Amino acid sequence: METKRLTKKDVVQAAEVIASGGLLGIPTETVYGLGADGLNTEAVHAIFAAKGRPQDNPLILHIPSADWLERYCEDIPATAYALTERFWPGPLTIILKRRPLVPDTVTAGLETVGMRCPDCGVTRRVIEAADTPIAAPSGNTSGRPSPTNAAAMLEDMDGKIDAILDDGPCAVGVESTIIDLTVSPPRLLRPGGVTLEELREVLGEVAVDAAVRRLMAPGEQPRAPGMKYRHYAPKAPVTVVKGAPEATAAYIMENKGPQSGVICFDEYRGRFGSAPVEAIGPVVDHAQQARRIFEALRTFDRMDVTDIWTQSPTDEGLGLAVTNRLNKAAGFHIIEL
Ligand code: AMP
Ligand code: MG
Repeated sequence: METKRLTKKDVVQAAEVIASGGLLGIPTETVYGLGADGLNTEAVHAIFAAKGRPQDNPLILHIPSADWLERYCEDIPATAYALTERFWPGPLTIILKRRPLVPDTVTAGLETVGMRCPDCGVTRRVIEAADTPIAAPSGNTSGRPSPTNAAAMLEDMDGKIDAILDDGPCAVGVESTIIDLTVSPPRLLRPGGVTLEELREVLGEVAVDAAVRRLMAPGEQPRAPGMKYRHYAPKAPVTVVKGAPEATAAYIMENKGPQSGVICFDEYRGRFGSAPVEAIGPVVDHAQQARRIFEALRTFDRMDVTDIWTQSPTDEGLGLAVTNRLNKAAGFHIIEL
């Protein structure tokens, strides 16, 4: 099929793609998503087929405001509205008990559903015009780094989806934070654009799922099924080097091979001789690092590097989301200095 290129002014056309059961690339503030009518089982199946996504990995339902929560969820705790008031529209997915009308294909058979209201006006208008929630995972082929602009999504999806709505590059650059409100205390399942510190300001105690910081053992089930898969990974193997930036830059310079690629902080870009380097932002600027990380990983897929070495930020604020994506891209192959 020919994938139509749509822009902000094409809300009606984009809504028609959704309403007719098609696949639409949607911009959001986090990453580009692969959207379909979340109440149409066949359309949702087509998302899994286009991505090559395992059937046991549920999708997030995107809605235009918290007013729609009651349509799809029940037993909604007051904490849900405390979160939506502070962070919606924005990069936060809330796991709630689902109503029976939400198809099993969306939730992968779970009794819960992930709900999100994206901070992207044009996508919210499309959802409203289609008058149905859009189910969407990230718009990459399963396992690859997520797309943070329309061109990156087309690398994976051109010819496989009906249309893509281009609204420029994503402002956050990593996927939404996922918080499970069906357990006590609430549990962080995936770090993202809303930080753990911000969640604790609203919720008090928040547990952090083990899958956020380490590899799951065979047979171990993380609460966000997607966290068990190798993910965000470029073709070349990745090694994460953790420690003080001076030390990690020196370590990478000593240990990289003649055809290695390097991901580093801006301050160190001159340290790696003739190696191809992707600088993802200053050491302290976790927001910039989040915006650039997936495009850096994708850039190395367009080159002939044998392996990739990367510096790693601290775990504070958005740094937790950046280190989580890097660690997963590396299959948790981490050297701690
Ligand atoms: P993506 O945004 O492409 O990474 O895909 C959605 C993510 O949300 C995956 O990691 C899923 O495992 C997670 N997710 C979606 N629904 C649920 C749910 N009901 N419970 C736990 N995790 C979920
Ligand atoms: Mg994804």
